[in-house]
Amino acid sequence: MSRAFNFSAGPATLPESVLRQAQAEMLEWRDSGASIVEHSHRGAEFIAVAAEAEADLRTLMAIPDDYAVLFLGGGATTQQALIPLNFAAAGQTVDYVVTGHWSKTAIKQAKPYVAVNTAASGEAGGFRDIPARDTWQLSKDAAYVHITANETIHGVEYRDVPDVGDVPLVADFSSSIASEPVDVSKYAVIYAGAQKNLGPVGVTVVIVRRDLLERAGQNRADIFDYRSHLKGESMLNTPPTWNWYMLGLNVKWMLAEGGVAEFARRNAEKAALLYSAIDGSGGYYRNEVAPAVRSRMNVPFFLHDEALDKPFLSEAKATGLMALKGHRALGGMRASIYHAMPVEGAKALADFMQDFKQRHG
Ligand SMILES: *Cc1c(COP(=O)(O)O)cnc(C)c1O
Repeated sequence: MSRAFNFSAGPATLPESVLRQAQAEMLEWRDSGASIVEHSHRGAEFIAVAAEAEADLRTLMAIPDDYAVLFLGGGATTQQALIPLNFAAAGQTVDYVVTGHWSKTAIKQAKPYVAVNTAASGEAGGFRDIPARDTWQLSKDAAYVHITANETIHGVEYRDVPDVGDVPLVADFSSSIASEPVDVSKYAVIYAGAQKNLGPVGVTVVIVRRDLLERAGQNRADIFDYRSHLKGESMLNTPPTWNWYMLGLNVKWMLAEGGVAEFARRNAEKAALLYSAIDGSGGYYRNEVAPAVRSRMNVPFFLHDEALDKPFLSEAKATGLMALKGHRALGGMRASIYHAMPVEGAKALADFMQDFKQRHG
């Protein structure tokens, strides 16, 4: 067996030790007579797994007690529709800052329910930068401001928390959650699909300040109501138990490795390796994102000649570097370097890039 360095944007690589533990526990979880996937979500076994995952995530991210943590199905995209339904009145104005593909998705999901004001957009500049805070046109009575902390496709990432005063700040952290120490109290809502930085696809984490849950929101079914999910301890219906369990193993692994401070260090090191391979290539490779907001999680880059894309991908694959093809919206390449990608993986890619340039230059 030879596992490649997997640069997939999501579902993404997971730590080998976590996969091995899941494998070892697949047939029977801790002398319980059955796999955790086969236990009722209402049974003592799964309830313990769920509670431990929440406690560990709270420790990992230093989530204050006045925040609820939900583990839901539906992915980040579903939250993009539930957020306006839960936190804004019908037709109320909400502010969105557009920094790439996923900000646009968020608007698309919100539009049926609220009046979306695009407070700022980086689209005219090809999403190569984040509009400066002082250019944002925030509304007077917005229910909230929505940002995308890291744009997984365009490779731009906020490097500080924008000040929006007392208006609740809602952030899509799908591709950068727990990647560095974050002051959760600066946000009203943090949400993230697990499949990039926290585990397998199928479970979505929603961290929400409890006072926000007192908002009336809009007429909605119980299953679309965050309050009901909280009351039901994220088990209003059958939750994605296996994914939740896997997320728990992954969070435990992150804690054992040194927590978010250590991952911040590794993530910065990996990103620096790749950006310096690009910037030091004399134009052979290029990334056009403003250096101050380059993503530490997703590194999109282009070869100087598109005709080299195919050999680059096939030779990379033969070297054990997989899933480097860029998103179809942008073309080129993209290296996603989430928590489970070791520094050696980024080193191997940087070395391969230099070697490829020498051979094809
Ligand atoms: C992947 C991603 C999404 C979509 O997540 P789903 O779980 O597929 O709905 C949304 N926002 C960002 C920033 C993402 O990276």
